[in-house]
Amino acid sequence: MKKTIAISACLLGTPCRYDASDNKNEALLETLQGHTLIPFCPEDHAFGSPRPTMDLIATIQGHRAISNESMLDISAPIEAYAKTFFDTHPQIDTVIGKDRSPSCGVCSSKLYNEHKQLLSSHEAGLMIKEAQRRNITCIDAEHILNLTNN
Ligand code: SF4
Repeated sequence: MKKTIAISACLLGTPCRYDASDNKNEALLETLQGHTLIPFCPEDHAFGSPRPTMDLIATIQGHRAISNESMLDISAPIEAYAKTFFDTHPQIDTVIGKDRSPSCGVCSSKLYNEHKQLLSSHEAGLMIKEAQRRNITCIDAEHILNLTNN
C-alpha cells in the first residue's frame, strides 16, 4: 500500500548535515520507491549548513540539544520546527529518521550527562520525539535496511 513517509532530507541526498554533506542512501531510496516522501531537516532550517555540532544531554529540563560550540541549549528552534512540520503534514503515516542523529534518530541517538559521559545509545532525537507524541510510527533508516537485507 502506498504510504506517505516523512524522511530525514539528508537520506535523500540533500547536503544538510553539519558539514554540508549528505547521507544519500540508494538502497533505502530503492526500497521506498512508490511511496510519497516528504523530506525534513530541523537543524538546517534552524541553523543552516554547515553548522556546529550538538549533542543530546540529559538535564533537569529533560533531553536537550546542547551546542558543542556555544554549550547553549539550542533545542527550541528544533522543537518548533517539528511541531510546525507535523501540524502542516497531518497525512504522514510513518517517519524514517537518520539513525544516531540527535534530532532524527529513532532508537539510536546517544544521550550524555552534563559531564559528557554516555548514558545511552538508544534514545530518540528531538524531531522524532514530537512524532512519537503524535503516535506516528517512527523507524531508524538503518533498521529498514537491516529488515530488507535479511
Ligand atoms: S539527520 Fe536530521 S537534522 Fe541531521 S542532517 Fe539529516 S535531516 Fe538534518
